[in-house]
Amino acid sequence: MKPTVAIVGRPNVGKSTLFNRIVGKRHAIVDDQPGVTRDRNVLDAEWCGRSFLLVDTGGYTKEEDAISRAVLSQAMLAIEEADAIIFVCDVRAGITDVDIEVADLLRKKVAQKKVYLAVNKVDSDVLRADAEAFRKLGLGEPYLIAGEQGLGVAELLDDIVKSFPSLPEKEQSQISVVKLAVVGRPNVGKSSFVNAVLGEERQIVTQIAGTTRDSIDSAFKRNGQDFILIDTAGLRKRAKVEEDVEFFSTTRTEKALERADVAIVIIDATQGIEKQDLRIINMALERKCGALIAINKWDLIEKDAKTAEVFREAVAAELKSLSYLPVVTVSAVTKQRVFKAIDLAKEIWEARRTRIETSLLNRMLLPEIQRSPPWSKSGKEIKVKYIAQLAVEPPLFAFYAGNAKLVPESYRKFVERLIREKFGFRGVPIEVQFRQK
Ligand code: GDP
Ligand code: GDP
Repeated sequence: MKPTVAIVGRPNVGKSTLFNRIVGKRHAIVDDQPGVTRDRNVLDAEWCGRSFLLVDTGGYTKEEDAISRAVLSQAMLAIEEADAIIFVCDVRAGITDVDIEVADLLRKKVAQKKVYLAVNKVDSDVLRADAEAFRKLGLGEPYLIAGEQGLGVAELLDDIVKSFPSLPEKEQSQISVVKLAVVGRPNVGKSSFVNAVLGEERQIVTQIAGTTRDSIDSAFKRNGQDFILIDTAGLRKRAKVEEDVEFFSTTRTEKALERADVAIVIIDATQGIEKQDLRIINMALERKCGALIAINKWDLIEKDAKTAEVFREAVAAELKSLSYLPVVTVSAVTKQRVFKAIDLAKEIWEARRTRIETSLLNRMLLPEIQRSPPWSKSGKEIKVKYIAQLAVEPPLFAFYAGNAKLVPESYRKFVERLIREKFGFRGVPIEVQFRQK
């Protein structure tokens, strides 16, 4: 059962506008005339990977005295049906008698349900002080929003989603397994790497039923964390089939990456990074898989104190803009740092499902963006209003701005670097979108 969120409030405070803003499409009818009769509008909505039903209550009559009754009965309905209630007021209209009545009702009847007081139309700083006055309604700190511009809506939704009951255990355990794909060109040591990992954990290795023809899945546990290792190489070895290695390993790699959270891309230290390696890395990133690079056969390299660093730098130079991918030198034969690679993969998995609070995101990024704002080719200023992380696994960041379409690609890259600088996301491909506000 999806949680239900209801929007209540007097006519014309901006409920439909907020509803549209949250569901992202122009479904509800927005009308300037107070008391426009319309039906209840229920739509699927999603915020940060949590879906819920959003209810915009309507159905007003045109008579003034009936409005109060209508709003109250609508609030009653919301109390019965919804898990959370957004009570919208209008800063420009001030606190009205109906607002006070509704607030009393919500305070008295809604013990276990969450009520979010949203003071709308706060689209200029001057109005903030007026909006604070709504505290008087006794519903806690008001959320200051402007539904039309989308200001403050992300913070409101953040808190609402946080109050939802956590996902059922089954779904949680499903998503708390780290799925790793071990990929790389032929002979770099994929099978050896997989054996090195599973060998040590032999007693708890299970072959997972339903493993496809293309790969073998093995489960193992490390420090209490469940992993699934998707091995693209093992099957070839077992079946001993002669096949077009290039073709089969490519489709296998693709299929494994589709299912994985993080790719461990194995590279042969004796050969260095080659075009085909880069192609595999890009395959992972295109599928928004987290990735790390394991330079294998490290035991074969003659080394002095600086070798590892020199190697890593050479790889980083090859990777260019992919320098956010961690690189680790390993040996599947001596098992050196094999588990460091696994631990690193788990860190990437965690980073990939991290959500940065909207307020923190804006506090950290907006000043930087204001210091070097985007400019369109035509010289038009593009003002970024606010930023929100809309999704995890993979992380998706939306920058809401005027003239969003004009933001050049180079600026998108700049912003991505900025996010990494402030929040890490090592080994995690992130998506940055500029959206029209
Ligand atoms: P509802 O009757 O509560 O659903 O209100 P509507 O969403 O239909 O909005 C009523 C009026 O308020 C419309 O003219 C909207 O354009 C306007 N409105 C909604 N949100 C804002 C806002 O954030 N700022 C301003 N200035 N006007 C808004
Ligand atoms: P795959 O085709 O990527 O699965 O590669 P394999 O695991 O079959 O390894 C190919 C060859 O490299 C085998 O002869 C392995 O013994 C060897 N090999 C794999 N890892 C290492 C390593 O870390 N050190 C050394 N010296 N040899 C390795």
